[in-house]
Amino acid sequence: MRYRWRGVIEEYRAYLPVTEKTPVITLLEGNTPLIEARNLAEYISLPLRLFLKYEGANPTGSFKDRGMTVAISKALEEGAKAVICASTGNTSASAAAYGAKAKLPVIVIIPEGAIALGKLAQALLHNAKVIAIEGNFDSALRIVVEISQRYPVTLVNSLNPYRIEGQKTAAFEISDVLGDAPTFHAIPVGNAGNITAYWKGYREYYNLGINKKLPKMLGFQAAGAAPIVEGHPIENPQTIATAIRIGNPASWRYAVKARDESGGLIEKVTDEEILEAYKLISSLEGIFCEPASAACVAGVMKKHKEGYFKGYEGETIVCTLTGHGLKDPQLAVNVAPTSFVTAPPDVQKVVKLIGL
Ligand SMILES: *Cc1c(COP(=O)(O)O)cnc(C)c1O
Repeated sequence: MRYRWRGVIEEYRAYLPVTEKTPVITLLEGNTPLIEARNLAEYISLPLRLFLKYEGANPTGSFKDRGMTVAISKALEEGAKAVICASTGNTSASAAAYGAKAKLPVIVIIPEGAIALGKLAQALLHNAKVIAIEGNFDSALRIVVEISQRYPVTLVNSLNPYRIEGQKTAAFEISDVLGDAPTFHAIPVGNAGNITAYWKGYREYYNLGINKKLPKMLGFQAAGAAPIVEGHPIENPQTIATAIRIGNPASWRYAVKARDESGGLIEKVTDEEILEAYKLISSLEGIFCEPASAACVAGVMKKHKEGYFKGYEGETIVCTLTGHGLKDPQLAVNVAPTSFVTAPPDVQKVVKLIGL
């Protein structure tokens, strides 16, 4: 074998809180594509180089795997008997998969009726114990935090610092490909763990002298679930982007720190803007991402219209596409710009329908 990616713990071991004693539980996550989106940049007349970090290419289809490999490995090292998480879907899918690999029981608490079917399917097939509560993500998170404090189960939400440690490796990968940090990094914000993780990763590479610059962090929340933008928790968060339907983010103050220290911003985009970006990414770039992922591209489009990127021509911007579009194919079919037509099995009739 000439070359084999070994997963984020082995590839970035020097920067992670692991020792030789840590049992490494990996599905070879990371090493996701950083794709230059020339068609999209041209379509919106963005005079910057636009790159999409496609985290849907991780083993369970979202960036959560980067954090989960570290959180589950450390839980095993520390003798955990079970792990628990609250989830809008992808955390449970990832915890269930890595828990299966580690032979650790996994308990997931999800908001009933508010997660994409693909994510539920993953958690169930990986044999997690799934409890759907009649409430939203924020109440699910309160419950798992309390349970993890009172019972011998380890919390693997992004309140667990090992999650943030693993997720920061995405910033390392981007820097390793580009040769430095980008000028801007745009990212969707839900529970705010990921913006926290990226900022930590960029700061570490900068402090070590590996990168010469720091990016401005641009976070985007959905308009109906934008507590950081509004400045107060949202009781009843609403958005089509279920992965970021969160009213009281656990890493709120770290997200604000990332915004302020980097000279960036955290703003909101509407569901219409999210869906427009979702369709453009798939139709112009051939990349199928989640609606939540598209929030950051929607945000970049909005800020560009406002003239925010004036003076940065030729510089680099990276958008993190956090999860895979196949998690929720029904939504894609519902909003797709085209539908299909049916025809009898007859060449002439099919040719006519094609318009040849
Ligand atoms: C978890 C998740 C988010 C939000 O990330 P946070 O760290 O909670 O801010 C965004 N998109 C997708 C697809 C996710 O799974």
